[in-house]
Amino acid sequence: MITIANGTVLYGNDLVAKNTNILIDKGKIIEISPNVSEGEILDATDCIVCPSFLNAHTHIGDSIVKDIGDGKSIEEIVKPPNGLKHLALQEASNEEIMDSMEESMWDMLETGTTHFIDYREGGLGGVKLLRKASKNVPLNPIILGRDDSFYGENPDLAKVKIAIRKLLKVSDGIAPSGFGEITIEVANLIVEKCQKADKISSIHAGEYENLQLDSLSKTGKTEINKAVDSGFDQLIHIVSPMENDLELIKKYNKNIVLCPGSNGLFSLGVPPLFKMLEKGIRPLIGTDNIMINSSNMFRELEYTLKVMRAISKKYISPKEILKMGTTNINTDYNQNNCSKLINKSIIEENSYAELFVSRKISKNPYLSLINRSEKKDMMCLINKDKLIYYD
Ligand SMILES: [Zn+2]
Repeated sequence: MITIANGTVLYGNDLVAKNTNILIDKGKIIEISPNVSEGEILDATDCIVCPSFLNAHTHIGDSIVKDIGDGKSIEEIVKPPNGLKHLALQEASNEEIMDSMEESMWDMLETGTTHFIDYREGGLGGVKLLRKASKNVPLNPIILGRDDSFYGENPDLAKVKIAIRKLLKVSDGIAPSGFGEITIEVANLIVEKCQKADKISSIHAGEYENLQLDSLSKTGKTEINKAVDSGFDQLIHIVSPMENDLELIKKYNKNIVLCPGSNGLFSLGVPPLFKMLEKGIRPLIGTDNIMINSSNMFRELEYTLKVMRAISKKYISPKEILKMGTTNINTDYNQNNCSKLINKSIIEENSYAELFVSRKISKNPYLSLINRSEKKDMMCLINKDKLIYYD
């Protein structure tokens, strides 16, 4: 048993700041009360106790080629199958890829992340490699796989079916890159098989305006519209929604993930967060390719808060931004397949202890975390029954 004592606790889905104690036993929060004090006492005076982060979109495999290709176009850097990233991955050995993935997972853990959703390249082998690399790291990878048979204008659907079946045995779902690389038939197959297996289907959509315009001129529908029509659980990016894309996302409660840092580095723009929040859409946040952007969620949240205020010229609350990295997955808006499968706890009684304790630098706990926290301010992290102290 362990009591986290005297901290400023960000409680429940709404991250309400309360000065209280938390009693944890066997990885579960048993009691939250200023009076509880049992077992080992972890003094959190002048600290914030925050739900650990869900980094909702990463490509951890490209950790091995950090910061290459800067200044080249997004297609030249990451478009499968011939982008710089894919060529570098082909040349690297499995051991090299595994070592760099493991290092990135420790980086994430050191900056408060316990859960991440990864778009894993390299087919079945790629998924297995990440599973193996994550064995020694006490965090929770949610791995979405893909296969080379998905690509092209005339894919062999029999082969696609076999690949999906094999992938779903070892992955948490399937994530093709985008509608620029796959046909509607392949997209529909992926969604159908994921639904049957109770797993996540996810896709990049509307990452930049030209993709949306291209899709519209070729098929009469935007990428986002196609992703919603095909029934994907989760859509990544949504930088350039057009027509009634946001209405569709809201109507079908689509789980969406924004990656503002990555969009910024690729010179693609800024997702319209203010409009999304106004419509009642509750996005998650992800750091995307580790090759171009750090997986440190504090950095991502800071960039997001500032760029969104700058672009919208309106007030966006830091609490709303912090929820995107912590509790939004559990809000009513996100009650779909994703939330069930991602299974990330908030701080309340009877839920799993998935939280970190960090030094409180200012009186506003939300801004203290987003605006000021660094690795050196982290005290410890609890991921269920694992307690990790930072040096
Ligand atoms: Zn991505």
